Amino acid sequence: MLQWLRLEVLMQLLSKDRPFYKGNLHMHTVASDGELTLERAAALYQSMGYDFIAITDHRRRSCATHFHQNMLVLAGIEFDFYLVNQVIHILGIGVDEGLAEVNMAHYSPQGAVNRIKAGGGLAVLAHPAWSLNTTQTICGLQGIEAAEIYNAVSRPPYSGDRADSMALLDVAAAQGKVLNTLATDDSHYYTGDEGCGFIRLQAEELTEQGVLQALRQGSYHASTGPEIYDLRYEDGVIHLQCSPAKHIVFLSNLPWRPGRNFTGDGITSAYYKPSRNGRVLEAFVRAVVIDENGRKAWANPILV
Ligand SMILES: [Zn+2]
Ligand SMILES: [Zn+2]
Repeated sequence: MLQWLRLEVLMQLLSKDRPFYKGNLHMHTVASDGELTLERAAALYQSMGYDFIAITDHRRRSCATHFHQNMLVLAGIEFDFYLVNQVIHILGIGVDEGLAEVNMAHYSPQGAVNRIKAGGGLAVLAHPAWSLNTTQTICGLQGIEAAEIYNAVSRPPYSGDRADSMALLDVAAAQGKVLNTLATDDSHYYTGDEGCGFIRLQAEELTEQGVLQALRQGSYHASTGPEIYDLRYEDGVIHLQCSPAKHIVFLSNLPWRPGRNFTGDGITSAYYKPSRNGRVLEAFVRAVVIDENGRKAWANPILV
């Protein structure tokens, strides 16, 4: 009986019976190269209806975790490393005050991940496609707890045109590195790079510990617009409910499989049965919702 209950809990990934909190976990202020002060950046996100944000200035934790009115502001940081033919940017979410100022000479990419986690923070690989990260790089980082599948500033007119990292993260996942995924703004300019990429998260409570726990459990989805209301994996079938969409797609480590695309006007549900028998097995499934304007929501990968 206990075993059965445990399985049921694990299968309910997102629930329409519980509230969602909206958040952006990557943004900059005048403490690094952002255009707004902490106060003005926080006020802007509060006015857009966000429940939580993380301030992730380059190489420094520029504020402690606090509340701006009723919006949770998490202490964060962004480490940056320059390698041959790629860069590695690592976010720390919910980091300790020992990272107020960082001497980058003391850190390797893996050292940064280890340091963030040692202080109780969550380590995230930022914008892997923009960074030209290889799957070798992604698979080699131990302890990374999520990656950005969408980074809003990594597109015109701001910084190139590689906002979407899904294809790269699918290759990494197919090679065994299955990571949960965030959409973020990485806001610097606040001229349209804000309010684009976000997550919707189901936490027990809107506190630093509550948000970090929900992030670690994968109880959230990334989005640039559509909302996933409910996601469950029950009796070998994945069921998804969402805001009205044009397409719902179930991607996996198998390049081809029938029954993975659903298309229609205003469709709000779909289901998918991963193959657990046969010659090739599906190891992970990623659900993607696309609305009529091309905006997307990405569910966290489901391990089959
Ligand atoms: Zn970055
Ligand atoms: Zn950044």
